[in-house]
Amino acid sequence: MRVSPTSTRRKMADTMRKKISLIAQKIGEAGKNVLFTGAGISTESGIPDYRSKGGIWDKFRPIYFDEFMSSREARVEYWRRKAELYQDVVHAKPNPAHMSLFRLYEMGLLEAIITQNIDGLHQESGIPDDRVIELHGSNRRVRCMNCGRVTSIHEAQERVERGDLAPECECGGYLKPDTISFGQAMPEREMQRATELSRTCDFFMVVGSTLLVQPAALMPNYAKQGDAFLAIVNLSETPYDEMCDVLIRGKAGEVLPQIVDTI
Ligand code: NAD
Repeated sequence: MRVSPTSTRRKMADTMRKKISLIAQKIGEAGKNVLFTGAGISTESGIPDYRSKGGIWDKFRPIYFDEFMSSREARVEYWRRKAELYQDVVHAKPNPAHMSLFRLYEMGLLEAIITQNIDGLHQESGIPDDRVIELHGSNRRVRCMNCGRVTSIHEAQERVERGDLAPECECGGYLKPDTISFGQAMPEREMQRATELSRTCDFFMVVGSTLLVQPAALMPNYAKQGDAFLAIVNLSETPYDEMCDVLIRGKAGEVLPQIVDTI
């Protein structure tokens, strides 16, 4: 017997609807719902991810924290790259996936978002700062590596544009966008809060992450160990695909609005 392409398509649509309904039902049960987001939630806002084809690692070798601290040349190169990405940061707007999570927050169904993203788009969607745990910092801030003073990226960027290629603080410390570089310690408070939320939540959903970056990628594991329902919405494979309760291979900006509409 030949299976027609139309009936295969219909079956796939039916499976997708069932998965979306199940996720919506779990979120609607109003337990502790935790979202975990990665670069993939922001690609539809025009910010490239790192590991997809054409992503940032196809273009640049990462600059390690030690190199930043020990070499002016590395700092100049770091700021040059930031300048290239700055336009993305300034112009990016939350897309339907971010807005769906904001709707969840408004419905009282979002405990917190743990994000690996550094683009600030969850806060820009309207979700308050204290509900967004930034594991890898934010591109919108700059931190002095000596005195710890935090300032806005715009100020530092203006200095770079005026020819101050590796800006320094008044105290003489190096200014660095407030993001976690390779080889730099993770922020302790954020890691603790994320770990606690992951271990104790009822529902945990990953959106747009390869789940390859450690230690952030431990979070879904903690959630599963704590008996949470684990859902993944991602375009490519992750190491957790086998162990999750629902896997949707789809675009965040298309899938998330459907989930929230179904609740
Ligand atoms: P990643 O680049 O490793 O993986 C992104 C994943 O998202 C991929 O599996 C890809 O298939 C998927 N994806 C891409 N577009 C999607 C879409 N529209 N819908 C659903 N899935 C989609 O990202 P990661 O796991 O977050 O790790 C990368 C690291 O890079 C993070 O630590 C983060 O700090 C940083 N980063 C952040 C940004 C940002 O803030 N927007 C951008 C690039 C990288």
